[in-house]
This record gives sequence, C-alpha cells and structure tokens, in this order.
Amino acid sequence: MLIGGDWEEAADGRTIDVEDPATGQIFANVPAGTAEDVDRAVKRARAAFESAAWSRMRPLDRGRIIETIARKIEENAQELALLESYDNGKAVHHALTVDVPAAVDIFRYMAGWTSKIHGQVNPISGDGRQYHSYSVREPIGVVGQIVPWNYPLAMAAWKIASALAAGCTIVLKPSEVTPLTALRLAELALEAGLPEGVLNIVTGYGHEAGQALVEHPGIDKIAFTGSTRVGKQIVQTAARDLKRVTLELGGKSPSLIFADADLEKASLGAALAIFFNSGQVCLAASRLYVERSVFDRVVDGVAQAARQFKLGHGRDPDTMLGPLVSRTQQGRVLDYIEQGRASGAELVMGGKAGAGDGYFVEPTIFANPSADAPIVREEIFGPVLVATPFDDVDEVIRTANDTRYGLAANIWTRDFSRAHLTARRLQAGTVWINTHGMNDPSAPFGGVKESGWGREVGEEGVLNYTETKTITALLSD
Ligand code: NAD
Repeated sequence: MLIGGDWEEAADGRTIDVEDPATGQIFANVPAGTAEDVDRAVKRARAAFESAAWSRMRPLDRGRIIETIARKIEENAQELALLESYDNGKAVHHALTVDVPAAVDIFRYMAGWTSKIHGQVNPISGDGRQYHSYSVREPIGVVGQIVPWNYPLAMAAWKIASALAAGCTIVLKPSEVTPLTALRLAELALEAGLPEGVLNIVTGYGHEAGQALVEHPGIDKIAFTGSTRVGKQIVQTAARDLKRVTLELGGKSPSLIFADADLEKASLGAALAIFFNSGQVCLAASRLYVERSVFDRVVDGVAQAARQFKLGHGRDPDTMLGPLVSRTQQGRVLDYIEQGRASGAELVMGGKAGAGDGYFVEPTIFANPSADAPIVREEIFGPVLVATPFDDVDEVIRTANDTRYGLAANIWTRDFSRAHLTARRLQAGTVWINTHGMNDPSAPFGGVKESGWGREVGEEGVLNYTETKTITALLSD
C-alpha cells in the first residue's frame, strides 16, 4: 500500500491473493489493509491537505503535475494494459484502447480545470447599505474514494484526477479483486511530482478497509463506485457525521431499436452494448427492446454479431471477450442463467460456462422473458441479454423506465425527432442515439434513481470535490 509516499504492509501483516481470472493462478499478493492502516493514511492525507502544498499550489503548477501524470500513464501504457489484463482478465488490446486512454484523457482534461475553477460575485440587495459579496469554491478536504473491479485503472483515474484538480487530498481503496493498477498509478503520480501524502492507496477488503474509510471522522467526502447494495450501506454509515457522498452505482440499461433504424448497425451496437468487457460494465445495455416487425431479424443479428466475439485469454491477440473477474462472479452469472431457463424465457444462444480453467461465460441471449423475471429486473453484471418486442413508443418508454435503475440507455432510429423526444422521456443519466458507451471527460456521467447520486467527470465532476464559501463585507454604512 502507498501511505504518505512509503510502501507499507498491513498493520497485522495479512495479505490478499491476486488471481489471474483466465487461469485461476495466484501471481501476486497485496496487504489486507485494516482500520489502523486507513487511520494512518487519512492522517497523512490530512497533513498533506493542511500543509497547503497541494491545495494552495499555483493552479497552473498543479495542472502541470496532473498533466505529467497523463504523460506518465501514456509512457507506461503497455505495462498498465498488461497488468490490467492479468488482474481483471480483460483483453490487453481492450485495456490498451479503452481503459488506458480513458485514464490519460481524464488527467489531461482535469489538468485544465485547476486554473478554471472560479467563484462568483453576488449582487446582493442587502439592507440598502453597500456590500461586497462573493463566493469561492474551496477544495472539500480529504476524500475517501472506493472503486470496483471492472475498470480498475479508469475508475481510479476518474476519481483521482477530479479530486486532484479541485485541490483535495485522497485515500483510495481499490477493489480487493483488482488492486494492482491503482498502486502503479499512484507510483507514477509520485514520479510526476505529486507531493507525498496527497494520494494514498490502501488495499483491502470492502468490509474492513472500505468500511473503516467511510466511518473515519477525518474524511470529508466519500466518492464510491460499485453496487447499489453497498452504496446504500455507505450512505447510512456516512450519515453519522453527514459526510458528503457521491455514488456511481449499478444499472439495467435498455437498448431501444425502432424498425426504421439501420438494423445492421443497431444489431452490432446492441451486441457490443451488452457483451463488451463480458458484460461487466455498469452502463451495459442488458435489456433489448425491438419494434415487433423487426424483432426476429434484430435478435438474429445480435446473436450473429456475438458469435464473432472470440472468448479467450486476455493475452491472446484474437481475444475479444476475456473471462469474468472471479469464480464468484462466474457462479453468480451462471445462477442467473439457470433462473432464466427456469422462468421459461427462450434461450437464443449461449447459456454455458466457457472452456478451460478460467472463469468464462458464453454470451447469452434470452428472448421473450416475463417482465418480472430476475433476469429482466436485476443487474447481472455478466454477458446476459434479455430481448423483448414492443408495439409503440409509449409502451417501450414505459417498459424501459420500469426499473429501479437509471444509469444509461440507447436509441436506434433514423427519425431524429423521435430519437430526441424519446431521449427526453427516458429516466437515465446518459442516453446515446445510434451509438452506445461513448464517454468523454467533458460529458458528466452518473445515474438517476438507484443508479447513484451526483455526476462524475466534466465540470460537475470537479465541482463535486469543492464546497462553496460566501464572503460578504460591509463597504459603507
Ligand atoms: P461492490 O459494491 O461489491 O464493491 C465496490 C467497492 O466497494 C470495492 O472496492 C469493495 O471492496 C468496496 N466495498 C464493499 N463493501 C464495502 C463496505 N461495506 N464499505 C465500503 N466499501 C465496501 O461492487 P463490485 O462488485 O466491485 O463492482 C460491480 C458493481 O459496480 C456493479 O453493480 C456495477 O454496476 C457497479 N459499477 C458502477 C459504475 C458506475 O459508474 N455507475 C462503474 C463501474 C461499476
């Protein structure tokens, strides 16, 4: 773990094995951080915050260091991609073309914000006397950040870059399943000139290190990405001292395909929208709604596209879909598939574990499931798609919105009025039209309903790491 610029073991010496999900082999271990380790890290982060070496550094100089972190990630792209593949299972070329560039982009984007966070002059009416009133945005303080295992580097980068731009100091806990790239990223940040103690990484389990971070009175804000279940626990714990909380949680996003769409592109788009990263994507479009007249054709097209996605070892250059991240996750997904079969939904393709020792699951499609089946209502976080026909736009909007989640959605049609009108009526933090998954550091991302609180990245992403202070002076009686 990295605490205040030093590499440290857990206070009680325990470790967590790190496993290659493509083979089941253990190839590394990291400390299992305890509450005592979290406390040490928070104290170092607090000292770094109060020293003002970071929070009050000339904004352009702070930006230059953040930009240097982007460059360091670029220079070490191959190594980071390989590490991500070993740790998470995903294909190296996927990590190289998606995860690593996402991390570079967010640091580069946030470097620019350091010199652009500004306040406002308040034109107060007051009581007739003259005042000068203004509001400034100050860094929120020491932030605790907790990230999941599906995009370990990119999720850590989103959080770290935004908090650094605002002038905060950080204790980040990566997932116990994928701790490696966050550690390497923090090492690169030190090399880039980030002062010691500004970014601390405590590895460990959620119920130990994660819980201790949320409980710690020295933490001003918790930024969490993970499951809705844990997000709710975090809110309850953070309520004790009213810590600020932002949450990026789960999803059950819909794809809507209208009969007038370019059906070939829409079918490939819908296949990628669910099967990319083996379905382990918060914004995965795991529910497919297709206008009835083209339903069979589109489902067939999605299945055909999915058959081209080669399942395999992440280091094999032909691999498109790697294994799931762990045996537990594979078991969960296979259980859902069994429930799907039992519920009477029609299995169009897949439905089994893949060959070999790794935690593979075949891309799986169910057609015509009942609307209340668990495969339709619950986030599976694996390569499982449910497809349902619809007859009119009001019906599909009602069905698409009939979920406790609201992270994302996509719409495929050539009718742009319908596309935009439908986009306005979908309950989702992001709606894509004739595409899916296009994220950018400038576009705020997050969910409505039980998919989260607040937005990450973009202007909102950085402002979420600030508090507003209003200062008012009496100029003349
Ligand atoms: P998870 O909720 O099990 O764990 C996420 C993180 O929280 C891990 O670091 C874990 O150790 C920690 N944690 C677990 N229990 C904790 C506790 N009691 N207190 C504090 N921390 C705790 O999620 P996961 O299985 O790692 O990831 C999959 C989930 O993440 C899915 O639901 C997915 O949709 C969601 N996700 C959301 C986004 C988004 O941007 N909305 C992005 C990626 C993943």
